[in-house]
Amino acid sequence: VGHKVYHFAWMHFYSPSNFSGRQKKAVWMDCGIHAREWIAPAFCQWFVKKIVLTYRTDEKIKQMVQNLDFYVTPVLNIDGYIYTWINESTRLWRKSRSPPPVGCTCHGVDLSRNFYANWGTVGVSTDCCSNTYCGQSPVSEKESQAVAEFVGNRTAEIICFLTIHSYGQVLLPYVGLAAAKVMTAVHRMEYEAGTPPEILYEFSGSSQDWARLIGIPFSYTFELRDKAEFGFLLPEEQIQPACEEAYAGARVTIWVSILTSYFITSALV
Ligand SMILES: [Zn+2]
Repeated sequence: VGHKVYHFAWMHFYSPSNFSGRQKKAVWMDCGIHAREWIAPAFCQWFVKKIVLTYRTDEKIKQMVQNLDFYVTPVLNIDGYIYTWINESTRLWRKSRSPPPVGCTCHGVDLSRNFYANWGTVGVSTDCCSNTYCGQSPVSEKESQAVAEFVGNRTAEIICFLTIHSYGQVLLPYVGLAAAKVMTAVHRMEYEAGTPPEILYEFSGSSQDWARLIGIPFSYTFELRDKAEFGFLLPEEQIQPACEEAYAGARVTIWVSILTSYFITSALV
């Protein structure tokens, strides 16, 4: 079975600009970079649905849609995601499904360790059978290449980069205690914000660190439910509440990134 990236489902929302002569800014959101984190792709779809349904009635969303374009990638690691649907033995697959390097028998690279951000240093493995295998070189994978090219060509445009994972209920780095608070308030599930070494563990080569390095000011990782009770096997009845929390967090994060963004403050309509 050869490696094939079936397709990238980029979903783009463009809306008419309200101010003339200025390049419109944008938000990037990707979900499902790690195959087994099923709540993430569910959230990207929820996010799009909510925006489409509420942009007329939710004043903040209305202003976001008027002032920003949205690039949403619901399943970034599509090969890995499809693999997790095969059976119970593949359900917890994390990496991509690229073929093994010479001399190894294991497939896949940890796409969230494959970006050009202190690549191959801490929190990674060079053993291709490891779950945190960072690949043979930075941006060696088709999936990370696609993101690096798309986002890298839009550094002047994208002001907010959100990559959605699970689990742990943490926001990295300081999305702002505001977002964690808002998310906690929705269903009284506790979310924390901080830097990876403080509240998770240190790692290199993540897309969020890379996005920050190339100059995207608001670059964050959201780790959604839960706190290891069910882990990646989050029960179906928790999908909706988890999405509701994440939506509240994404909404406030994007809002703050617009308000803080030097260029746009006076242009909000
Ligand atoms: Zn993850």
